[in-house]
Amino acid sequence: MAKRDYYEVLGVSKTASEDEIKKAYRKIAIKYHPDRNPDNKEAEEKFKEAAEAYDVLHDPQKRQQYDQFGFDGPMGGGGFGGFGGGSFSMDDIFSMFGDVFGGRGGFGGFGGGQHRPTQHRGSDLRLKVRLSLQEISTGVTKKFKVKRDVQCSHCNGTGAEAGSGSETCPTCHGSGVVTRTTQSMFGLMQTQSVCPTCGGEGTVIKNKCKECGGNGVVKGEEVVEIKIPAGVAEGMVVNVPGKGNAGKRNGIAGNIQVYIEEEPNDTFIRDENNLIYNLLLDFPTAALGGNVEIPTIEGNKVRIKIEPGTQPGKTLRLRGKGLPAVQGYGRGTGDLVVNISVYVPKELSKDEKKALEQMQKSDNFKGDNATKRTIFQRFRNYFN
Ligand SMILES: [Zn+2]
Ligand SMILES: [Zn+2]
Repeated sequence: MAKRDYYEVLGVSKTASEDEIKKAYRKIAIKYHPDRNPDNKEAEEKFKEAAEAYDVLHDPQKRQQYDQFGFDGPMGGGGFGGFGGGSFSMDDIFSMFGDVFGGRGGFGGFGGGQHRPTQHRGSDLRLKVRLSLQEISTGVTKKFKVKRDVQCSHCNGTGAEAGSGSETCPTCHGSGVVTRTTQSMFGLMQTQSVCPTCGGEGTVIKNKCKECGGNGVVKGEEVVEIKIPAGVAEGMVVNVPGKGNAGKRNGIAGNIQVYIEEEPNDTFIRDENNLIYNLLLDFPTAALGGNVEIPTIEGNKVRIKIEPGTQPGKTLRLRGKGLPAVQGYGRGTGDLVVNISVYVPKELSKDEKKALEQMQKSDNFKGDNATKRTIFQRFRNYFN
């Protein structure tokens, strides 16, 4: 099935506010919810499609990436944490309901009170890294000291003191929701909301851990090693799943997002995956031809051949000597493009001046004559 534009899926405009997106998604999710449409494949697909669209559009950062790069994200299929790859499961969707419906239990009303335990997801961490062009050409592993929520070692993340477990919530009896009946102008109305005692989990901890207060996570500091792939560019985001804040009570850890910044380089100018090198050739070599050494991004030198009579403005292309493409993105390894200009000395010795004045007298050194000569040659060739 061809993927539909996320905005189209939710039926909102590109400039829709977060609130409009949330409302649009809620409407679709309720309509196509599996509990309401049992054994209806089409409804399930619509439900999943909306959930994926919402997952991207309700997150300002993912939305911006989507607006800029489309479905693939800057890092290829991984740009949206693999959602684009069809790995979006119903469990992922239910774990997203937290911020739309106030807890998974909010759906209890559709499914006859069937309870799915809430799993908390830790938040994402954002980091910035500044890379040299050399680091970008090879890829690099960077160490970051990050302050993050880590699993509480005292309770092993359960949030409960040793020996004490959790019990069914006495308020909601495990359903995670409470139902209230109110008298309205339409008659008796039942409203459901997340259980205030257990927060929708359906269970409560008998004896909360004294280290983490029952959350199962504590503040920690860690050194995290992150591998940055070769070929990244300014503004790209590398997503590292599971390295963000730990989820409460052994929930799912968030991600680390690394924002790439690029240091300017003295030798090369980057143009997508190509590297541009401006070669200032001395006049005699331009005229006589010869060999010249060109630096490469790896730090080596390559010899290139200069043909006799090389003109300023000529471009040479060294295939594959540019930057590699990020996996699954871009057009393959770039080239090293050598732009040739010719150096004119600013100061001359007496002898040099003399030699040049000698050349000046020769018609062969006059650009105008060169053009006339070619025209004349063409003319002659035409008639011969
Ligand atoms: Zn604890
Ligand atoms: Zn409860």
